[in-house]
Amino acid sequence: MLPGMGIRNWVSAALELLYPGSCLLCGRQLLFDDRPFCPVCSDCLHSLQPVQATRRCRVCSLSLISEEKLCTRCRRRLYAFASNFSIFEYRGEMRELLYQFKFRNRLRLGPVLADFFAAALKERRDLGLLVPVPGNPVSVRARGWDPMVVIAGALARNHGFPVSRLLARRPGSAQKTLSYEERRSNLAGKLKMRRPPPPGATRVVLLDDVFTTGATASECAHLLTEAGVQSVEVLTLAIDVP
Ligand SMILES: [Zn+2]
Ligand SMILES: [Zn+2]
Repeated sequence: MLPGMGIRNWVSAALELLYPGSCLLCGRQLLFDDRPFCPVCSDCLHSLQPVQATRRCRVCSLSLISEEKLCTRCRRRLYAFASNFSIFEYRGEMRELLYQFKFRNRLRLGPVLADFFAAALKERRDLGLLVPVPGNPVSVRARGWDPMVVIAGALARNHGFPVSRLLARRPGSAQKTLSYEERRSNLAGKLKMRRPPPPGATRVVLLDDVFTTGATASECAHLLTEAGVQSVEVLTLAIDVP
């Protein structure tokens, strides 16, 4: 760290308190009664609605319409994780927040997004260890930070959850436009264990931002299971409804 960095950070924090700017979602001026250091106003924060569906696929978390228990794609695929739960749908304001966080470097959204994970995790008993899905090293290098590592850090620091970065990723081409099968072959050999699970870590909750085909989460779950973890569940901020 550069000498004087602490003072600069302190000054920028003080300036942000004095001049908090405007809400990333609605553009209104942020006020002192909005959450400090949060770039979203309290009205917009409260208007973010988790998926309310009463019937969701028990594997991937997709809302079910006429299907029973499993959606049509989960009937065709075998995932290495036991289940995925997605808090929001990947659209509208949640999609915009993730864009601002990841592509506009709004790092102050990290603790805000971590709070959504924390609320979903607090409803679970016998939680186990939280493991972030590692980002593609090419994007991490370009961005200078890994989004899920920032969120997992806030979950440990602000909420006291046990977090460990057990997984690492080698560089690979972007996955965004690929199908499940293409993603699986794109991922082959790209993920690996960074370190073995700590003794007694039998349950893991994998954390990721967006659940799309489930290929990445499944590959991570496969590695963790091979390393001795007995049960892997997935918790994602948003599901990208196909
Ligand atoms: Zn707003
Ligand atoms: Zn499903």
